[in-house]
Amino acid sequence: MTTWRNWAGTVKANPQLVVEPETVDDVVAAVNAATGNDQTIRMIGSGHSFTAAAQANGVMLRPQRLNAIRSVDTAANTITVDAGVNLTALCDVLDQNGLALTNMGDIRVQTIAGAIQTSTHGTGRDSGTFAAMVRELELVLADGSVATVSATSDSELFNAARAGLGAFGIITAVTLAVEPAFRLHAHEHPASFGDTVESFDKWTAEHDHVEFFWFPHTEGCLVKKNDRTDAPAQPIGKLKAWWDDDFLSNTMFGALCRLGRAAPGYVPVINKFAARALSERSFTDVSWKVFTSERDVKFVEMEYALPRAELLPALGELKDLLDNGPWRITFPIEVRSVPGDDAWLSTAHGRDTGYIAVHAFQRMEHDWFAPAEAIFRKHGGRPHWGKMNTRTAADLAPDYPHWADVARVRDRVDPDRRFANAYTDRVLGP
Ligand SMILES: Cc1cc2nc3c(=O)[nH]c(=O)nc-3n(C[C@H](O)[C@H](O)[C@H](O)COP(=O)(O)OP(=O)(O)OC[C@H]3O[C@@H](n4cnc5c(N)ncnc54)[C@H](O)[C@@H]3O)c2cc1C
Repeated sequence: MTTWRNWAGTVKANPQLVVEPETVDDVVAAVNAATGNDQTIRMIGSGHSFTAAAQANGVMLRPQRLNAIRSVDTAANTITVDAGVNLTALCDVLDQNGLALTNMGDIRVQTIAGAIQTSTHGTGRDSGTFAAMVRELELVLADGSVATVSATSDSELFNAARAGLGAFGIITAVTLAVEPAFRLHAHEHPASFGDTVESFDKWTAEHDHVEFFWFPHTEGCLVKKNDRTDAPAQPIGKLKAWWDDDFLSNTMFGALCRLGRAAPGYVPVINKFAARALSERSFTDVSWKVFTSERDVKFVEMEYALPRAELLPALGELKDLLDNGPWRITFPIEVRSVPGDDAWLSTAHGRDTGYIAVHAFQRMEHDWFAPAEAIFRKHGGRPHWGKMNTRTAADLAPDYPHWADVARVRDRVDPDRRFANAYTDRVLGP
């Protein structure tokens, strides 16, 4: 096989063997064979983690054929799908059944297992991370057995494995709590940094979903507010959609980032221009079309989950750092929030959470991630498992109240670390 690379090009792998399982039995056979050959084994998703979370140098299981829709229950509002189903296909089948995901992140190309394993999240007042939506997991464990776990059946494994970085077993199916399909009214508008920070708590109380992007080296933000509505769909016109979401957000933004990389001195001017180019707009559409968009411009990212009360103080310190530092940053800083949940390794475990995400255009220096990470850590931040960080198990342990339970469950289900890689060794321990 040719070398595998993740989306951002930050990680590669040269697995000894690549397998594309189609059934649970195929996964069991692959795990038993890996044990027989004393190889590690992991399944990848769509490779959208910036960290080496998915890196598989022993046996790499690819998700493409593990993609059946197992059952849809419109009375209970649940869906059970194979682990390799991607979010676009999941949204389609939910739509066809009059259902929808409660919340989503920025994109819809991840596999469902990949999304839950790193605690992927969007923004929302009442709806949390992907890990919080999981009702049941089916996993193939290191001894080749198949376990179906939930809040009432081996709840410890369920709690550990829901955002488990692939370290507890190969997930073969996921049951999610979903809800009747809904439309969102989107209102996006520019605002100053000062007004945005002053109003953010009020806006997050008033609206179902709020996030904002601050353009470094400027005082400009773009605010996005989405609310559930019974009003009919009023999507953006095709030309405006192409202009805003394709041309401005991808083609032009990519060109501006390339210009900024070639001539960093112009970045503040470029950012002012970019902040102004994105004007106010409102539209109404089915939920998944409003939640997600296309991301063509390649970048690297670090994101931290902070106690909600620490979000704005940490952002203020980050702004001071970037305003006064020597760096030139072309990508906006993204700010979101979600309610706490109970998955042991969810970045929102046990606390209402605010997220700050910092990005750097591909091949641009991002040594400023280090002082940014120091600010996030000072405010009690937990790193997004799929995004750049320098954390180790020893310093993460105090951030997660169930750390010792996680280690105990891992020792029970994977004592030989069949599912480990260098990244899980670093962040969960060897
Ligand atoms: C452009 C872009 C936008 C993004 N937007 C957001 C966002 O809005 N919010 C957010 O929170 N994150 C976001 N992310 C991060 C992304 O959602 C996560 O990194 C997610 O985990 C990627 O899913 P994936 O399918 O690509 O999984 P991968 O990155 O391929 O894998 C992630 C982890 O899941 C494990 N895994 C996958 N399948 C299985 C399985 N069947 N059994 C066991 N383990 C498995 C892998 O081994 C790995 O540890 C974004 C990333 C990019 C590149």
